[in-house]
Amino acid sequence: MRPIQTNDLVTVEQAFFFDMDGTLFDSMPNHARAWETVAARHGLNFPQLTCYQQEGRTGMDILRQLCQGKKDDAELWQIYEEKSRMFHDMGEPDPIKGADRLLTYLQQRGDTQIWIVTGSAQQSLFDRLDLAFPGIFTRQRMITALDIEKGKPAPDPYLAAWQKSGLSKEQCFVVENAPLGVRSAKAAGLITYAVNTGPLPDKDLLREGADHVFRGMNELLLFLQSH
Ligand code: CA
Repeated sequence: MRPIQTNDLVTVEQAFFFDMDGTLFDSMPNHARAWETVAARHGLNFPQLTCYQQEGRTGMDILRQLCQGKKDDAELWQIYEEKSRMFHDMGEPDPIKGADRLLTYLQQRGDTQIWIVTGSAQQSLFDRLDLAFPGIFTRQRMITALDIEKGKPAPDPYLAAWQKSGLSKEQCFVVENAPLGVRSAKAAGLITYAVNTGPLPDKDLLREGADHVFRGMNELLLFLQSH
């Protein structure tokens, strides 16, 4: 009997878990500006670079950390809503360059689940995604801040996606742009592709355990096409 050849292997189903802000949408500059401005109105110091370092946490987690128990949850929700309104008023952010081509490539493979795993809690999330990337996402394949108790950097959001996918961890891949998002994905035991779309250095992503760091979606697409 001849040994098994690589091209004898049947295609194995895979799942890709995409973070949203900074990975699929170029929304982080607006988030950072909105956070800095609204925080300052409430006497809180939250510079834009810190926002990138904290990216991935839910809004309430960020505020609890900033306020250190000096405001109750009702006040924090008010501040979060104020920040969400300002972000909304800044207009719809553009998709990240190359994200549409990458998603279309994965969808056309026919054996790949495409998920969203985000700390965002916006009710209009699916409509936004479907408008920017028509026909790619389904409401069933989304994990948002409303679905889990502990957000990133805890592993819970990615563990929830993995469990719902029904696949083994070796068949699942995370695409993230933020250090704390990478930390969450690696704590869940998943292969993690970091796409650095922001101002932080690559080493911040590598330090959290990213398996590869790419300079953009086009670079990740080339990598997937050649593997
Ligand atoms: Ca992100």
